[in-house]
Amino acid sequence: MDKLKYKARAKVNLGLDVCGRLPNGYHKVKMIMQAIDLYDELEFNKRKDPDIILSVDSKDPLGDIGNNLIFRAAKLMKEYYSIKEGIEIHLKKHIPVAAGMAGGSTDAAATMLAMNELFELGQTREQLMEQALRLGADIPFCIQGGTALAEGIGEKLTQLPPMIKCPVLIAKPSISVSTKFVYQNLKLDEQTNHPDIDALMKDIREKDFDGVCAHMGNVLESVTIPNYPVIAEIKQQMMRSGAKASMMSGSGPTVFGLFEDGETAKRALREMKRSGLAKQVYLTTIYNNRRK
Ligand code: ATP
Repeated sequence: MDKLKYKARAKVNLGLDVCGRLPNGYHKVKMIMQAIDLYDELEFNKRKDPDIILSVDSKDPLGDIGNNLIFRAAKLMKEYYSIKEGIEIHLKKHIPVAAGMAGGSTDAAATMLAMNELFELGQTREQLMEQALRLGADIPFCIQGGTALAEGIGEKLTQLPPMIKCPVLIAKPSISVSTKFVYQNLKLDEQTNHPDIDALMKDIREKDFDGVCAHMGNVLESVTIPNYPVIAEIKQQMMRSGAKASMMSGSGPTVFGLFEDGETAKRALREMKRSGLAKQVYLTTIYNNRRK
């Protein structure tokens, strides 16, 4: 096999809590990660020479190619597994960039999975996940997919039973939100409204859709919403259009909404586009197929 195509799926956080700060400045988190069927397309071609060549087709700027997570993942794989040949990779970007949807991490995960196959490295998913951690805390989840609890700094993963499949509306406003700013301004005291992640896990296990919607929560909204009111406006717009729950994903600024039926979700998509609140709007679904 000399070439491969891969779909690299985005994630949303159904729940995100920050439990404390570690001495090294990192934050202890407790999050529910969920893959969705919004994806980047990647194409991989083996090369006889040792070069890694990356080309990108993206509406949003992705910065320096040498710093792209795809390039860094390919370099890591080549070095760690002493691969002599090179690889040519083309990325067609669809996932909103710097949006709290793990776009870069999922591209890196797809690169590691594809190179494992193309170069017949014979690594298990767990072995790849261990390597992936060196590049970023979200990448192991992107290798695994499905639904998972992430603890520690996001790297300690526990697989959960599949989430109820439902339509998911994604809306990203045109603002940029710095992850560093959000975490630096997060106040953790007795006033902090922490989501009940354990209750959320129970709802997922029991396939209780109303329970999931009631217990979804993201502690980082306590920073982003006062600073970027458009996030609250998008949430309200989704709820008015019939979403059963609406929340910011990760450190934002993307907002997602869960719907019970496809028709309501399609109407909500049209209404969100018409509102002009969000620059990028997509309708997708929960994606539960895990990687082998
Ligand atoms: P997370 O949810 O993991 O915090 P994110 O969705 O907020 O991630 P990304 O879309 O991964 O953020 O992009 C963050 C930054 O990473 C971008 O500004 C971009 O410069 C850089 N980056 C590197 N590689 C990629 C890639 N393949 N796709 C998108 N961004 C990338």
